[in-house]
Amino acid sequence: MYSRRYVLSSLLGAIAAAGLAPDASAGRRVPLPESKPPVPPGLRPQAQRQPAVLVLDPGHGGRDPGAIGVTGTEEKDVTLSICQSIRDALRGRRDIQVHLTRDRDTYIPLGSRVAFAHEKGADLFVSIHADAAPNHGAHGLSAYSRSDKASDDFARRLADRENQVDVVYGFDSSATDRQTAAILIDLARRHSHNASLTAKRRIIHGVGKRVTLLDNPMRSANFAVLRSPAVPSVLIETGFLTNPHDEKVLRNARSRAQLARYLADQIAPVTVDLREA
Ligand code: ZN
Repeated sequence: MYSRRYVLSSLLGAIAAAGLAPDASAGRRVPLPESKPPVPPGLRPQAQRQPAVLVLDPGHGGRDPGAIGVTGTEEKDVTLSICQSIRDALRGRRDIQVHLTRDRDTYIPLGSRVAFAHEKGADLFVSIHADAAPNHGAHGLSAYSRSDKASDDFARRLADRENQVDVVYGFDSSATDRQTAAILIDLARRHSHNASLTAKRRIIHGVGKRVTLLDNPMRSANFAVLRSPAVPSVLIETGFLTNPHDEKVLRNARSRAQLARYLADQIAPVTVDLREA
């Protein structure tokens, strides 16, 4: 039995050898995850294991404030603070390495956030948000993975691009190469999609014991930051800034840091397991 990472890195190595994968959302090239030479799990000595890589993505930033709360709280500040607190909670651990897509109040395009996760060779990408809703009664935490429909759309767009393979991959290939690349990308996509579903389920089950969840907290949607074909990705809506109670929790530094610790407690073991899976 080979691990998910072994299979994935073999696949991605093959794809990377053929060029770069397309980013469907931005119409630009996104580098694939840093390719590390795959070693079958049985041959990996414990001491040489690399730490799992978690990429946290504080939603919005800079000229994009995100949702605005009932008392003026801006989503971009809440998301940055939560991500920094999750990183703080995991500091000092040898089995996990945490990177943030932004560490200050700056605007980052969605495609660049996904590209960053690829560059870092992320085992898990978690985008943090705080929602707004027309119904101010809506409250609680929820988590999203990419919707199947979005997956299908992604696959279709990818398939469309396969017809311009020279443009997309930057190499002159035969029909067989195109087919192989499409199959490998599809396999990698299924791997990361299944891992995303597992991560979403585990995070919601764990965090749900400590904080209020939205009705039907496990959701799927066509978010651009969830479209990586290679990195398992989850988007967490930590609450609704349009709900007075949620905003109070998210505005207060102490309750916000506590929520971040609950999230860290769930996200860390999931990330480590995804590395080993
Ligand atoms: Zn948001």
